[in-house]
Amino acid sequence: MPAHILIAGGGIAGLASALALARRCHRIDLFEQAVAFAEVGAGIQLGPNVTRRLQALGVYEALTRVAARPDALVVRSAFDDRELARLPLGNAMLRSYAAPYLCVHRADLHALLLAAVRGSGAVTLTTAARIGQVAARSQAVSVSSTDDRVWEGDALVGADGLWSTVRAKVLAQDAPPQATGHTAWRALVDMAALPPALRSTQVRVWLGPRLHAVAYPVRRGEALNVVVLAEAAPVGDARDWDQAASLSSLQAATGRTAAGLQALLEAVPAWRAWTLNDRDPLQGPAQMADERIALVGDAAHPMLPYLAQGAGMAIEDAVALAEALDGGDAAAVPAAWARFAELRWQRNAQVQARARRNGEIFHATGPLRWGRDAALRLLGARLLDVPWLYEG
Ligand SMILES: Cc1cc2nc3c(=O)[nH]c(=O)nc-3n(C[C@H](O)[C@H](O)[C@H](O)COP(=O)(O)OP(=O)(O)OC[C@H]3O[C@@H](n4cnc5c(N)ncnc54)[C@H](O)[C@@H]3O)c2cc1C
Repeated sequence: MPAHILIAGGGIAGLASALALARRCHRIDLFEQAVAFAEVGAGIQLGPNVTRRLQALGVYEALTRVAARPDALVVRSAFDDRELARLPLGNAMLRSYAAPYLCVHRADLHALLLAAVRGSGAVTLTTAARIGQVAARSQAVSVSSTDDRVWEGDALVGADGLWSTVRAKVLAQDAPPQATGHTAWRALVDMAALPPALRSTQVRVWLGPRLHAVAYPVRRGEALNVVVLAEAAPVGDARDWDQAASLSSLQAATGRTAAGLQALLEAVPAWRAWTLNDRDPLQGPAQMADERIALVGDAAHPMLPYLAQGAGMAIEDAVALAEALDGGDAAAVPAAWARFAELRWQRNAQVQARARRNGEIFHATGPLRWGRDAALRLLGARLLDVPWLYEG
């Protein structure tokens, strides 16, 4: 008999896991603390390693209807807008990796996963259910919501994000996420509302001392996602992805930037901010699963956004989790979760470490910055391409 699996968290990791497991005929109960699944977030980049998984999950057609397919990644100096390096995306990614590089609004990705989960008929979704307690026994796992409802299943998947509650059941010793001292200012702008010179079909990145900015199209190119990351003292609630912010708070951290970037920043009508928190890279498989409980996505391995793979690794986890269990029953869960953790922890740790290192390189000052810019000018696409990641 297929397994009955409980999933805590209905973000990208939770929904992708529910879908992947439902496709293997398991029965799923998913619990989301939010009162409703709402349109939240901004842009997410999906490398070919991720779009390949979304093809396997059967949501690729839906994805292509809402995503943008940028033609190039172009890196410039935030000092003078000078181009430092360029990586062709578009057909070049298809040729190299047999899957496209796409940019999508998080809400659109979330909505298409939700529609597929609902369409599967195998997933019961319960909103307004914040999981507060977990009890694991040898044959079953039960979870209780903070308003004292209780559910029992054969296994539990902790997909409850950076501030995970389930994580404490897998890691006996753990510390809370640490503030990085970096803040992300985000905006979504109607492409048509921008002056033509500021519209673009590329992923544009500007690098400057202690800051970088990224802009790329989403929603079939109808909107531009703009993110600026800079060093700034944390403000507001660290758990809030969506704090009101202003250009003046952004520029207090960045100072004035090169004319091209500055014009874009000034054209943005409204900014939101979130302060970045992080955990050290995974140390071993025991940090991703214990008997009948597995962790996926940010609950296991939060990713700084400097390699644009947070959602990507969550989706990779989901596919690997379902493959590990395959058609197995309740008795097969502990071995399947152990296989999943063994398979996933090193890749996740590598991406976490590389994202951290990118943050240091992107924000470099002094001689390190000159060396970085020289290397980018010299090696160009060879530095920007990430075959070990995109082929995986
Ligand atoms: C509101 C929001 C907006 C985001 N916007 C962006 C963005 O614009 N760009 C970007 O790159 N990344 C964004 N992210 C992060 C990105 O989605 C994740 O880093 C990545 O997709 C991994 O997803 P995840 O499902 O592991 O974690 P998350 O996306 O954090 O999802 C975790 C889910 O679990 C729920 N949850 C948490 N605790 C409990 C609990 N105890 N019981 C039940 N449910 C619980 C949360 O409400 C959430 O829905 C956002 C995340 C959130 C939650």
